[in-house]
Amino acid sequence: MSWINKISIVLAIIVAAVLPTIWPNPYYVHLMVIIGIYAILLLGLDIVVGYVGEVSLGHAALFGIGSYTAGVLHFQLAVPFLLAVPASIVVTAFFGALLALPALRVNGPYLAMVTLAFGTIIQILINEMTFLTNGPLGLSIRKPIWFGHQITGADYYYIVLAALVLTLFVVQRILKSHIGRAFEALHDSPIATDCMGVSVYGYKVYAFVLSAGIAGLAGSLFTYSEEYISPNTYNFELTILFLLAVIMGGRKTRIGPMLGAIIIVMLPNVLSDIELFRTISTGIAVFTVAYAVYAVTTRQGTVRQMLLPLLVTLVLAASGYFMENITEHRLTIFGVMILFVVYYLPNGIMGFLRRIVLKYRPQWIHRHEIVAELGDDAHVWSVPDHPVNASGYLLEAKNILMQFGGLKALNEVNLQITKGTVHGLIGPNGSGKSTMMNVLTGIYKPTAGKIEFNRKNITGASPSSIAAAGIARTFQNVQLFGEMTAIENVLVGLHHTYRHSLLDAVFHTPRCRKEKNAARLRAASLLHFVGLSDLANEEARNLPYGKQRLLEIARALALNPSLLLLDEPAAGLTAPDIKELIAMINKIREHGLTVILIEHHMDVVMSICDTVTVLDFGQKIAEGTAAEVQSDEKVIEAYLGGSVEAA
Ligand code: ADP
Ligand code: MG
Repeated sequence: MSWINKISIVLAIIVAAVLPTIWPNPYYVHLMVIIGIYAILLLGLDIVVGYVGEVSLGHAALFGIGSYTAGVLHFQLAVPFLLAVPASIVVTAFFGALLALPALRVNGPYLAMVTLAFGTIIQILINEMTFLTNGPLGLSIRKPIWFGHQITGADYYYIVLAALVLTLFVVQRILKSHIGRAFEALHDSPIATDCMGVSVYGYKVYAFVLSAGIAGLAGSLFTYSEEYISPNTYNFELTILFLLAVIMGGRKTRIGPMLGAIIIVMLPNVLSDIELFRTISTGIAVFTVAYAVYAVTTRQGTVRQMLLPLLVTLVLAASGYFMENITEHRLTIFGVMILFVVYYLPNGIMGFLRRIVLKYRPQWIHRHEIVAELGDDAHVWSVPDHPVNASGYLLEAKNILMQFGGLKALNEVNLQITKGTVHGLIGPNGSGKSTMMNVLTGIYKPTAGKIEFNRKNITGASPSSIAAAGIARTFQNVQLFGEMTAIENVLVGLHHTYRHSLLDAVFHTPRCRKEKNAARLRAASLLHFVGLSDLANEEARNLPYGKQRLLEIARALALNPSLLLLDEPAAGLTAPDIKELIAMINKIREHGLTVILIEHHMDVVMSICDTVTVLDFGQKIAEGTAAEVQSDEKVIEAYLGGSVEAA
């Protein structure tokens, strides 16, 4: 974090701390308490929605579980505040796990439905379990008494502020650790994340449980703030409101959730006070006009693009002066505002502001931390000495059958990989080469057959466990973590070197710092090895295609594999780059790694492969040295009958 960010955060905390003294109206203090509580919840929700990229419609229910845990503990057992709050966090995190473990087996709309059902069930349970929750009548709670002093609404504001600052700190530390990096990675490319040994499912559950724990904290604080809770509060509308707040505020930021919380708490007030509405809507209209004029004159937008947002904001502002009574039109205005934000500011208000700030940020403020000193190649290699099987192979695939419907993409293929060699896998387009790679790395479970690696049977194992066992790969269609920088991509590959826990990450223990530094040094060395040192802080999606392929190799090497699978690494590379690639693969072999290489460029295959296997229509048609297979009758026929570019 740059010092500018740090100073702004300290300033914001000071402003928040003095606000109640310059604005002592209890009603406003209460609103600020609710904003603080919602902001805590939204910081957690953003982990699931912003970072992991899953929609949860269950967060109002989790909020309710937190509320009711504190409420029931207080009401039934007179548990003190300082025990009830942590208990709520734990109980809610437990319910989060209960929801996440089955729910995260499915994706997208299905997940949304499961979380929605969870929300409904929880609400029914709270209503029905009268012996605990007092049912629809609700529970009454008192704010705590500390050292003989009854905590007042104004005191409570500072408790919530402290909790918010603490949450902010903890969430920031977690998201900046290897755990947060795993969340971001699985959002960008789940397949690649799994193939880097980072279990997508496991980390999704992790994110959900964290998020639920934070919702529990918010819920328990809410109980003591309101001093009365009833089941109706935790309804579908609240869940939608939370989601909107995250999206409007801006995903993947710490300030976004604060803004979102302010918006959803203040909006009902704005929409019930015509004067306030006029002021704010006029302000927004003036801003939009100014922005439109600026955008059009600097050619960042066309008149046509600007027309509709201009019209909407102007009509909204004008409508304020025609309306006598705003309450009748609340829902309409609310709907228009939401549509407007979701459509025109897909990255939320913070995303929009950030785009402007980044563009005009002076040169002397660096956007990213500069990479630590460069290591040399010595940091790259420490190839584990994996044993070979009884037949003397590092990897042996026997009678692999991979069927897609009626198509046998692989038909009884045997593959034996000798340790320390570069094994070529060639064949016309569609012959099953990539399928073989997907079977070996666990992305496809073979219909039949057996794979032995490192003397273990890995048939049907998950991609992340196969990666952890020592098989790394690149992809034919590049699978980088696009929104992350080059060095961060490599750091995901180094995930296995991080042994420190969540608490280590939060407290920045010496162990955590040591592992972080070691990983950064090794990542820098790996980038150096593939010749990408200069691009270390560039976002992966902005790299030229050829460089992206090289970055994938660096990331795969970070896994410290004993077997490296390269799927058409030369595709999209320029001639000099291909030369470098050949040198690189030779170096990789010299260090004791075994390589399986799928390649269309025959010169690459000829110059580096010790053995070549040829596939055609899912069957092995030849095997031998490069020279042998090139003169093989069947191979020549397959290629002449197949794609010409391949020959
Ligand atoms: P290659 O990499 O040799 O060009 P592939 O392994 O990608 O070929 O594909 C082999 C065959 O398997 C092709 O006919 C392809 O359409 C088919 N195939 C690959 N993956 C799938 C899948 N997930 N579902 C259905 N068919 C697939
Ligand atoms: Mg392929």
